[in-house]
Amino acid sequence: MVKLHSIARGPEDGVRAQVRFCPRTGQIWLHEHRMLLVHAEAQGLLRKELIDSLGMDRARGLLTRMGYASGLRDAELARTRSQECDDAVAFMVGPQLHTLEGIVQVTPVQLQLDRVTGRFFGEFLWENSWEAQWHRHHYGQHNEPVCWTQIGYACGYASAFMGRAILFKEVECAGMGHASCRIIGRPAEEWPDAAEQLRYFTPESIADQLIELQTQVVQLRSTIGEKETLPADMIGVSPGFLRAFELLRQGSRSQITVLLLGETGVGKELFARALHAMGPRRDKPFVAVNCAAIPADLVEAELFGVERGAYTGAQCARPGRFERADGGTLFLDEMADLPLPAQSKLLRVLQDREIERLGDHRARPVDVRVIVASNIDLQRLVKEGRFRSDLYYRLNAFQVEIPPLRERKEDVSFLAKRFLEKYSAVHGKKLRGFTDKAKRALLTYAWPGNVRELQNMVERGVILAPSGSRIEVDHLFSCQSAQSQPRELRLGIDGNLDSATWETGKDLCEAVFNGVRTLDEVEAMLIETAVDKAHGNLSAASRMLGLTRPQLAYRLKRLNEATGRQPDEGAPEKPKDLQWR
Ligand SMILES: [Zn+2]
Repeated sequence: MVKLHSIARGPEDGVRAQVRFCPRTGQIWLHEHRMLLVHAEAQGLLRKELIDSLGMDRARGLLTRMGYASGLRDAELARTRSQECDDAVAFMVGPQLHTLEGIVQVTPVQLQLDRVTGRFFGEFLWENSWEAQWHRHHYGQHNEPVCWTQIGYACGYASAFMGRAILFKEVECAGMGHASCRIIGRPAEEWPDAAEQLRYFTPESIADQLIELQTQVVQLRSTIGEKETLPADMIGVSPGFLRAFELLRQGSRSQITVLLLGETGVGKELFARALHAMGPRRDKPFVAVNCAAIPADLVEAELFGVERGAYTGAQCARPGRFERADGGTLFLDEMADLPLPAQSKLLRVLQDREIERLGDHRARPVDVRVIVASNIDLQRLVKEGRFRSDLYYRLNAFQVEIPPLRERKEDVSFLAKRFLEKYSAVHGKKLRGFTDKAKRALLTYAWPGNVRELQNMVERGVILAPSGSRIEVDHLFSCQSAQSQPRELRLGIDGNLDSATWETGKDLCEAVFNGVRTLDEVEAMLIETAVDKAHGNLSAASRMLGLTRPQLAYRLKRLNEATGRQPDEGAPEKPKDLQWR
């Protein structure tokens, strides 16, 4: 045990004498080691940059190891002194050098050590900590000790001096708001949390880690790249959706013409965009054409372009949608509405990969992937002679059937949530979601208008619901009673309509608007009721309906086909045979 007052006077003359300045050569020496006189502020900025670019933890590791290296070197000097004096006195060379180097003023509080047995306990007071000062300057008061370089120094010095791992910890730190810093050192194994502290002494190759992380990023990008470019509304977990999506993904890899089938509003254009986004043409144009929206006599000019003077009014040459989609994807929606002559031209383009503008006989090569969509059974149109069979077979090579929303109920809440986020942003509203009743209504509704209807309905809800509230059933559906209590439609258990409802027709209309009934079902109700009233006399029934007898017979035949009845069964006796749902 050493009398502390005798070693607490600051750097001894012997230690001071080890520091030599050589102004001529510009070198500063501490014993055998070259030292530097650097600007504390510059050092502080370096420390800050390390923290800002690598994070506290990594910067702490680097700085701790830098301090450790200094401590190791200073311990060499102390060991040369230990031959002349007591171990504890020799040990104090380190704290004295630490002070002399301008890092921190060290005052010993307790020091017990024995180099033979390896026993070590040290407690020191640190004042004017350089590191705490700059840490507080740049980051304010911290919740943990911040004198990392200095702790590294103490550990490196004591470990080298003792010949075993000595771990110092700051129990108080000026960086945490204490008046000064206080450190305690013991052999590493005496600290229960030694492993936690020692990890700062293990060098880590940040470059290796950066390269490793970079590789990971590249790999992740390549796997999620497809998802990133997908339309945001392309979401679903239902088996039907996933099946269609998987098929779409497979189709995206080739250039095959894809036929998308599905009811109105299922999101055929969304699927087409997803197909485009997943394929190699994703950076090229995606051009969508709704064949039903273009007058029949203009559709060819629109698709294939026109040369000047091709027809009256063609003042200048104009490229068609095919040319505008060159290199990319052309999406032809409502394919069933494409007139027959345009169908022939389309078939030629698909076969020859070149187009001819109207009024021009020059073939222009086009590199366009074609996606077509229809909500009408094209095969039926082929049978009716309204659609070219050769074109149909060409398009039919790869078809993807998109299920109606009523068959993917699992997706309704996901989609509703997505649309809620979307339209809340569009209309600048903060809403807390849907009420339970509204959620139930969304889940039980039949969605005749499919995803598009859900989207429109949620937008309506976002507009109508007061900011900060939840969307209620009323905000979604225009007629709450018809939706929330669909059984109030007063259908008899045999499927007959209640006469009161029949007379007003109001609930029936609401039922159609809300998707509880389809227009086809209402037509079936009318026909069957008329046939029933006429006791099976089709001529009488057709008069009631304002139809000719062949017109009624045609509708009945279609009805029978739709309900799976054999046509030869004749007119149904009772409407209950229909599946009212
Ligand atoms: Zn401190």
